[in-house]
Amino acid sequence: LNIHSTALYDAHDKRMGTLIIFHDITRIRLLESMHKDFAANVSHELKTPLTTIKGFIETLQQMMADSQSALTQDSAVQFGRFLGIIEKNVNRMVRLIDDLLALSKLERLKGTDIQFEAHPLAGLIQKVVRFCTDRAQSRGITMDVHCPDTISAMVDPTLMEQAVFNLVDNAIKYSGEGVCISINAELKDDNIEIQIKDTGQGIDAAHLPKVFNRFYRVDKGRSRDQGGTGLGLAIVKHIVQYHNGRIEVESRRGKGTCFTITLPGAAEMETASG
Ligand code: ADP
Repeated sequence: LNIHSTALYDAHDKRMGTLIIFHDITRIRLLESMHKDFAANVSHELKTPLTTIKGFIETLQQMMADSQSALTQDSAVQFGRFLGIIEKNVNRMVRLIDDLLALSKLERLKGTDIQFEAHPLAGLIQKVVRFCTDRAQSRGITMDVHCPDTISAMVDPTLMEQAVFNLVDNAIKYSGEGVCISINAELKDDNIEIQIKDTGQGIDAAHLPKVFNRFYRVDKGRSRDQGGTGLGLAIVKHIVQYHNGRIEVESRRGKGTCFTITLPGAAEMETASG
């Protein structure tokens, strides 16, 4: 129920009473919730046939490998190429559905659903970095991490890992060969700041305010080539907001980009030596 009240006065400014308006918003809330459930259901339903298609692609690839000699050289090449294209597109759809599902889950989360715990931040960041190392190395990108072992953050570790991963993953995707990505975490006035900074292609000022919007991509072609869905930063923003934090971005075209997550309620753990 939404309640608004306004004082009522007559022509001589004498108070006549109060107007109270009760607005029943049950239906609006119900429709919002149906809309969010719908997105989750559709995503689940789409995933099932895609999993079947993926299975058959793998079977066909295997059959082709087993019967190479039965095919002419040309048709074998064509077969392989077409199957590769189908596989790439199926994988793209799977990623898109996974991101849509993640976003729709986040939208339906209530504060009480989140499993906040005091978690060592260095471990969380290192885990993300380990996960991204192969891909970074294959592009000659180095990652430099600075995070004191003593910082502990009140987070849902799985969600915060996902947020940091999306930012590091973007830094790798949108930086050229051989650049350096630095990931720094520090305590600042009772808050924790996590910065993911790259020296990659950067983002024009005109695009900056929009990059957190769903499906917003500065360069659609490049994002697609890199396996992007346009949902990564929207997911990060939701996760950070659920932690009562904020996310900011600074960037200069051709110079690089820096994303800063600020989380409230910093805690410094006792070191082993006390
Ligand atoms: P995507 O799946 O396309 O990467 P995101 O929501 O993660 O979607 O990012 C939105 C857009 O913001 C990207 O398509 C890209 O244009 C831009 N972007 C994000 N991170 C960076 C970065 N570190 N450097 C340059 N551009 C970036």
